[in-house]
Amino acid sequence: MPTCLPTVLRRCHACASERFRANGKFRVNAHHKLLDAWLLVLCAACGDTAKLTILERVNVRSVRPGLLDRMHDNDPALAAELLQDPVVRRRNRIALDWDGAWRLETGGSDHLDREVIDISVRFAARIPVRPVRLIAEGCGLSRAEVEGLIAEGRLVSAVRLSGRVSGDFTFTLKR
Ligand SMILES: [Zn+2]
Repeated sequence: MPTCLPTVLRRCHACASERFRANGKFRVNAHHKLLDAWLLVLCAACGDTAKLTILERVNVRSVRPGLLDRMHDNDPALAAELLQDPVVRRRNRIALDWDGAWRLETGGSDHLDREVIDISVRFAARIPVRPVRLIAEGCGLSRAEVEGLIAEGRLVSAVRLSGRVSGDFTFTLKR
């Protein structure tokens, strides 16, 4: 689950930095019945503000209910939702760095001594992580041990455990 907003990767026009932080602030401009709205992000190095386009020349009537209120309230949860929206990321040519912005919750380790365990991993946000790292942390193993279990066929999953995943998956661990 996320613990804070991810770092926004984007080139700063004022300095050489490529890292921005969203603080949940929005700016909304209305012109007649047309709206523009941006999520503001601050350069981590020089503090320069950049605007990520959320709405562009959109008719007030077509904006989904509640969205404008949340923008006026500078709702950080809305900032999190929008940053996770691939359409927003593509339109603004940004990527996200989730390093240090999430944590794993395991619900305890009582079950880990069983011979065979099925575990489901649920993502509270689409955070790309290596399953090997998650499984190592969650099961109290080293990454090398996890890789060994995969190689021996004692750790199996329908997803490719060697890459990155960002959505729910399950795995079975046989001791
Ligand atoms: Zn900068």
